[in-house]
This record gives sequence, C-alpha cells and structure tokens, in this order.
Amino acid sequence: MKAIVATQDKKAAVVDKELRPLNYGEALLDMECCGVCHTDMHVMHQDFGDKTGVVLGHEGIGVVKEVAKGVTTLKVGDRVSVAWFFKGCGHCEYCTTGRETLCRSVLNAGYTADGGMAQECIVPADYAVKVPEGLDSMAASSITCAGVTCYKAIKESGVRPGEWILISGLGGLGNLALQYAKNVFQAKVIAVDINDEQLEFAKKFGADLTINPLREDVGETVQRECGGAHGAVVTAVGKSAFNGAVDALRAGGTLAAVGLPTESMDLNIPRLVLDGIRVVGSLVGTRKDLEEAFQFGAEGKVVPQCQSRPMEDINDIFEEMEQGKIRGRMVIDLKH
Ligand SMILES: [Zn+2]
Ligand SMILES: [Zn+2]
Repeated sequence: MKAIVATQDKKAAVVDKELRPLNYGEALLDMECCGVCHTDMHVMHQDFGDKTGVVLGHEGIGVVKEVAKGVTTLKVGDRVSVAWFFKGCGHCEYCTTGRETLCRSVLNAGYTADGGMAQECIVPADYAVKVPEGLDSMAASSITCAGVTCYKAIKESGVRPGEWILISGLGGLGNLALQYAKNVFQAKVIAVDINDEQLEFAKKFGADLTINPLREDVGETVQRECGGAHGAVVTAVGKSAFNGAVDALRAGGTLAAVGLPTESMDLNIPRLVLDGIRVVGSLVGTRKDLEEAFQFGAEGKVVPQCQSRPMEDINDIFEEMEQGKIRGRMVIDLKH
C-alpha cells in the first residue's frame, strides 16, 4: 500500500509500505482521507526529533476492514478516526481522570505511531472514535484535529451562552473555533487577526466584532466595546497575540492557549492576581470531546472548509502552508 512518510532530508515522500499483522485489540482501516495539519510540518522538519520513516497524519478517517481478537468496540464497516491522541496507557492519573491527552506514555499518530496518510492504517480499536452518519469523511477529518482542538479550548475557556469570547487567529483552526463558539456555545465572538481577508471571512461566519491588531489595540478596543471578554482562545502563533488576549479579558476571564509560538508570553502578575485571570493550555481533545465535536459537525452546526488533494501533492501543500497561502484545510484523498 502507498503511504506518505517523513524522509531524512526533512521532506515527505509517497512510498510503498508493507503493514505488519494485527495485534490483540487492533483494527485495520481502509483509509478514506487525511487532513494536513501544521503539526505534520513540524514532524517532517524534525522540530520534535528525527522521525524519518514514520507515516505522517493525524486527521485520518478510515473504514474498518478487519478486527483482531479482543476488539469489542468496532466492527467491520465502521468509519473511525486516526487522531493525534492515538493511544494512552489507560491506567495513569491522567488516563483515569478525564485528562487522557496528558498521558505521559501517550502515542501520537503521525509522530510516535504510524499515522493516517496511507491507504491503510492499524489503530488500537478502543481509541478510534466513530464518525456519526451524516458527517462526510472530509469534514470529519478536519474535526479530528483542528475541530476538536477548538471545541475543547472553548470548553476550557468556560464561556457560557451570551458571553463574549475572543478568538485570536482566524485561519484553519480559528474559523472552526468561531463556528463552535457561535453555533454550539452560543457565545458572542470577537475575531482578531492581522489579515483583513480572514476578518471579512469571520464576519461572514457571524463574528460580532472584528479587530485587526495592526490598526487597533486589542485590549483597549475589547474593553471599550463590551467591557472585556469572558474567555479567549488563541490559535495565533506569536506572543503578541497572547498578550493582546490577556489585555482583552475581563476580571475572572480565562485564556485558553492553543497556538504554539516558541516564545514566552508576558504576564503581569498584579493583573493576574487582582483580576483573577486564568491562563490554561489546551491540547487537542479526549475521545469523548471528539465524539461530541463530530456530532455537532453531523448536525451541520460546524462546517469545515476543506479541499481535496492527491497524495502526490504533499510537498506542494507543505510549501503552500509555509508561505501562508492556505485557506481552510487541505485534505489528502486516499481512495483514488
Ligand atoms: Zn493537528
Ligand atoms: Zn496514561
């Protein structure tokens, strides 16, 4: 079968790969598609170490074609995910307290386990999340990482219906965050981006207030317009976006950090203490979060913007990603 792997020279290549036999509790998937995420680019560039030979991809959707002994949760024909949270140990303090993505012996698809950018993929059956009927595979693939990441971060922000949430960075992730915030959490949304085109797009998707930090001070504007945001989700990759989001929070507000700039953010300690500001990191989502995020997609509350591309385009896609040319999500078609 054909698979997209990371190569020694920090690129990706389509290669022929033989799969090992299934082990106890595993399922074999016929892959349908797999979205391309920024994290795939980091893995390929060896930013988290040399992963030469690993099959990339953690936004995979496939159909079960075989199950090994011990599989009770999946059957042949089920459509399921291949997600970044690929497998936890199942018994540590994180796995047993609803925080399984923090498991210290976690396996991640397309990084420490072979991922979804292949015609076939082996998954631990108990960790593959079923895709509900009515949600097409392309849309499901975008929800498997980008969607659930946003959904979970909004949950972490604690924002309730009618409250204000600031979403910083309206790219592939932020656009989904906007839709979950508006259509699922019933919040009022402040969209922040340095790209006017993205802000226009955000308005079309229902943003209540848009701010370009190149022209306006984010904190000042938000405090003036609505008295401060109750929560913020920062998907932007830059410390100024994090600082602006903290300034925009009202007392008691929570910032959920999703973007991964390599710098540190500034945190004014008196502001943190006196205004009871909370800052939390949010990493993808649990299996339960993904199940919920899928369901809202199936109900049409969230519609990912994606585009289908052949396997052979993988290096072009990464190049476009680096040049910031990508709007929406690129999804590799693994069936044709
Ligand atoms: Zn991802
Ligand atoms: Zn664990």
